[in-house]
Amino acid sequence: MDLGIANRRALVLGASRGLGAASARALLAEGATVIAAARTEARTQEWIDALPDDQRKRARALPLDLADRASVDRLADAVLAEGGVDILVNNSGGPPPGTARDATLEQWTQQFAMMAGHLFHLTQRLLPPMEERGWGRIVTIGSSGIEQPIPNLGLSNGIRAAILGWSKTLSNEVAAKGITVNMVLPGRIQTERIGELDGANAKRLGKTQDEIAASAKAAIPAGRYGEPEEFGDAVAFLASERARYITGVKLRVDGGQTKSV
Ligand code: NAD
Repeated sequence: MDLGIANRRALVLGASRGLGAASARALLAEGATVIAAARTEARTQEWIDALPDDQRKRARALPLDLADRASVDRLADAVLAEGGVDILVNNSGGPPPGTARDATLEQWTQQFAMMAGHLFHLTQRLLPPMEERGWGRIVTIGSSGIEQPIPNLGLSNGIRAAILGWSKTLSNEVAAKGITVNMVLPGRIQTERIGELDGANAKRLGKTQDEIAASAKAAIPAGRYGEPEEFGDAVAFLASERARYITGVKLRVDGGQTKSV
């Protein structure tokens, strides 16, 4: 299937590694031009340099610190100066593990700005050119914790549920303008963050990291963690011309892990 985005311009946030980088690579493989934004441009440049020639020419790294409003606005200014983008993939780093019971007000405020508020703001700034062109795709990376809260990820479960409410509301507001707004919910996709979380759980529960990973995999009907490429493909589809009548959804990419219907 031709996804029909060969001439589209995309901005992917948190794209130096993991799911953001995999989403950016999937869009590049479909012929889109991609700005990959993250704190460490050098880390992003590493995977860009490893791309085949024709894809490398269409990829560019730009700096973004989602904890810093000024940095978010600088990125928006730079992108808008070039006419904006057609596709925005919203992604951020995940918050530290911990219980909802013990999370502090400072943590809620700080993490909400980084994971949610600044994404909402950037999206708002980048919408006008999409509205003028009558075509746009907003895809936001969430978590399976939105549907089935993950133990010891209180900040993540709470803040991402707010992002879901925003995404669905916005989808209704811009649907008639040719803009779709969707979420993709990863279950356990094999990225560095998942390794770090398994490590933290191992420490907390007095087990080895391998034991933690084995019991997590046993709870996934597919019997394994997902590959970042499998996640990136789902993002590219929702960002595509082909997905033009799909909006306001949350798509699970979790190997069946989420228990509810
Ligand atoms: P990751 O930690 O491997 O990658 C996060 C990316 O965000 C990196 O590129 C990092 O540089 C960037 N980033 C972090 N802080 C930033 C900041 N202040 N400003 C700009 N960029 C910043 O995580 P991942 O596994 O790729 O997951 C991506 C998102 O999806 C995270 O929020 C994570 O919590 C969530 N998630 C992932 C999984 C999974 O299975 N991997 C599952 C559920 C939720």
